[in-house]
Amino acid sequence: MSDSSQDFIGIASPEITEAEERAVLRVLRSGRLAQGPEVERFEQVFGELQGTPHVAAVSNGTTALHTALHVLGIKSGDEVLVPAFTFAASANAVIATGATPVFVDIADNWHIDLADAAAKVTDRTAAIMPVHLYGLMTDMQAVSAFAAEHELGIVEDAAQAHLSRRDGHAAGSVGVGAFSFYATKNAMTGEGGAVTSQDAEVIEKAKRFRNHGMTTRYTHVEWGLNLRMTELQAAIGTEQLSRLEKWTERRRAIADRFTQELPSLFTPPTEPDGAYHVYHQYTVEVPVELRDTIRSRFIDSGIGVDVYYPTPVPSQAAFEGSSAEGRYPAAERAAASILNLPVHHQITDADIDRIVSVASAIAEELA
Ligand SMILES: *Cc1c(COP(=O)(O)O)cnc(C)c1O
Repeated sequence: MSDSSQDFIGIASPEITEAEERAVLRVLRSGRLAQGPEVERFEQVFGELQGTPHVAAVSNGTTALHTALHVLGIKSGDEVLVPAFTFAASANAVIATGATPVFVDIADNWHIDLADAAAKVTDRTAAIMPVHLYGLMTDMQAVSAFAAEHELGIVEDAAQAHLSRRDGHAAGSVGVGAFSFYATKNAMTGEGGAVTSQDAEVIEKAKRFRNHGMTTRYTHVEWGLNLRMTELQAAIGTEQLSRLEKWTERRRAIADRFTQELPSLFTPPTEPDGAYHVYHQYTVEVPVELRDTIRSRFIDSGIGVDVYYPTPVPSQAAFEGSSAEGRYPAAERAAASILNLPVHHQITDADIDRIVSVASAIAEELA
């Protein structure tokens, strides 16, 4: 099955063209590298594209989450509801504010389970952080109703959800949104992030927090940090954003083909009615006892499948560790059964054929 004459198909492949090279050179030659007009332009372009009028660019997705929590007033003693199945950054950002992440199991589409969330609300709960995992926006009508009932702030972890929408709302436009522009995300700046909101005041606050609480030079009205994006990052990002809609359509077309053509051993992801899934990852479920064999077969055939994520966050030593065992059954099942297939826009039709044919051979072998 393995054919070493064929190129390895990687799980992520950032596109860096002459446009990015020219943009970086332009900024280098301008002599202004720290936050300035390029960052402002990036914020404006991203806000228009995403459908979130107010944007604060920051240094990365983790600092975007930290800033979003901070502007909602999350502080020491507070609890924030975080899904157990996400990247550790979601929980680490809560810890950065001094608050405590309270882990919640997942439900449909690997999104936060609101029934489990309800069981975990206490009088210290201050916010909920839905994670739009793999590029599918969480059902925010349900999250909004839940947050209103319990008087909670909402931070949307939209690190994987650029351009995603659901029920007429853009990711990052319902609560305070936090996006990542890390090198492997749907659009990238190397490292980078953005905070989004419908509310201008929230973003004014975010802009102060990213710059030491300054209003004018050496006037500090509150404490803050240096979480600024550089002009170099912003210039790369603006170029990336000019091609993001096209890339996203390509991801969706690739996902459609997988969903139609993969054998039944692979349970495909779903796109709920009213949702626009941006397929940061194309995630299938396979039988738990076969997952690691299937993964090795793909890798041996030159297809860079991966597992995001192999361990629920609370099971990590940094959080609850072994005491988490058995407490997040859906997250544990997901960690053991999912497989992410390459779905980035640089995959060719021939690559799709090859991935489907390898998948079919694996299904036949393991049937
Ligand atoms: C990438 C990611 C982050 C963190 O973003 P960075 O830019 O790497 O700091 C947070 N949450 C999720 C779900 C992510 O995928």
